[in-house]
Amino acid sequence: MSSVKSRPEQDLLSLAEAAEFLCVSKSTMYRLLDQGKLRGMKAGKQWRFRKEDLLAYMRRGPAALALANLPIEVLEAELAAIAEELAKAGASTDDCDDPALVGEAGKISQLVRRMVWLLHSCWGSDLHLEPIWEAGEEYTRLRLRVHGELREVRRLPLALHEPLVLEWKQRAGLAVEERSRPQEGSARLTYGETLVPLRVSVVPTLYGERLAVRAIPTHVPTLEELGLGDSPLREWMTQLKGLVLATGPAGSAKLKGLVLITGPTGSGKSTVRAACLRELAERDHNIMAVEDDVTYMFPPGVAQLKVKNFTCAEGVQAVLGQDPDVIIVGELKGDPELAQRVAVAAESGHLVLTCQHAYDSISPLYEFLESGVKQSLLAAHIIGIVNLRILRRLCDACKAEQVPEEGLLEEIRTSAEAGGYRIPDSAVFYVPVGCDSCHGEGYEGYADRFAIEECFTFTSTLKAAFLRGAPAEEFTRLVREEGQPSSFAVGVQKAVEGLTSLEEVMRRIAH
Ligand SMILES: [Zn+2]
Repeated sequence: MSSVKSRPEQDLLSLAEAAEFLCVSKSTMYRLLDQGKLRGMKAGKQWRFRKEDLLAYMRRGPAALALANLPIEVLEAELAAIAEELAKAGASTDDCDDPALVGEAGKISQLVRRMVWLLHSCWGSDLHLEPIWEAGEEYTRLRLRVHGELREVRRLPLALHEPLVLEWKQRAGLAVEERSRPQEGSARLTYGETLVPLRVSVVPTLYGERLAVRAIPTHVPTLEELGLGDSPLREWMTQLKGLVLATGPAGSAKLKGLVLITGPTGSGKSTVRAACLRELAERDHNIMAVEDDVTYMFPPGVAQLKVKNFTCAEGVQAVLGQDPDVIIVGELKGDPELAQRVAVAAESGHLVLTCQHAYDSISPLYEFLESGVKQSLLAAHIIGIVNLRILRRLCDACKAEQVPEEGLLEEIRTSAEAGGYRIPDSAVFYVPVGCDSCHGEGYEGYADRFAIEECFTFTSTLKAAFLRGAPAEEFTRLVREEGQPSSFAVGVQKAVEGLTSLEEVMRRIAH
């Protein structure tokens, strides 16, 4: 035991302070000292600890901390619980467990691997771990965001919170001892051939640190895979691509215009935008992305700007100086300056793909106007606008026929017809029931949800109406006359086809 006097007093922590620093109980501290796992010094009867010894202990890994705090059986139980969730998502621990992680020390790592694989398997975007103190109950809540919805997956013992946060901090290269400031970093987990890049964010809260992990998708699906193979969006992309191929590098006709992909949170806007890019991608294109939030790992060759210390609008302005062919812009978020820049970028001969939070395909056009972008500029450069929705697919094994109540059916019939779809008299509707195969949900799992779209191509008829100042209602009517149904109408059609329920359509789409 070294002498205490040689060091200034403020460098040393008391037992209580050290316990707080490590987030363990005082009795755990005594046990660690007994077992010789932690170095301490005696000043008279009092224990004193050097910060560097505590840090050295912390760096031995989250597993050491976890095991100091709770019996191994608890950790085993959590591993089993996540394995069960994996099975529900149609995945298995065989695909995610790392055989190199053996013994007790590897269990926290294994737990993290299973959680991330669960997120990956159910097509989730974010994983949240937060300490919760509720009347008489304390736990760590694990939630996943899947298709925009936040779902509680598990309540873990609170004693696991700190080790899990530590494990993440180490993986993301964050300062393990920093607990009072927000930190951000990135990590990547590999599962065989599959790479899962992640963005890790930790913020201090009243009850401890809250962790959020975002999965950044790497596999860009095709429009076909997304069920949008027959969509006008596909047609726009094919036409745009044809334009480039026909003219070649020296040609004068260029890939240009503005495609707006809209929808509520979790409707797959970023995914569809990435799929569009995939349709277009040519090796000799200069593609640049400007986003507040990195939503996708685009293929190599696409320059992704990290918006930091400058605004998205400034970013768009800046990339114009980089001779781009295609510009990807993050959400417009009603920012008038960004809307202006985007319109100007399209006008100056670039193809711009951007997203907007919206519940239909027509209102974003009018929002552009409100942002102060000129009507003529919009009419000249917008190619089309698409609005996306995600619907749950009924479980085929248990769905049951049900005749909707007459008043309700009448209401739905009227709205669908206004949206461009006539319900056939012989239509049969189904409701969810719940069975073993769908884990009592009545609907298929997350991976089986499907996208529907409402969209319009900015045809010459529509342009003329827009230029003479047609109000949104009239414009909508013209869009329907051109044969483009509303998302409600498309949803009802999917219900008639037996893919989903009327309840699901009404819950997700306003009519
Ligand atoms: Zn079922």
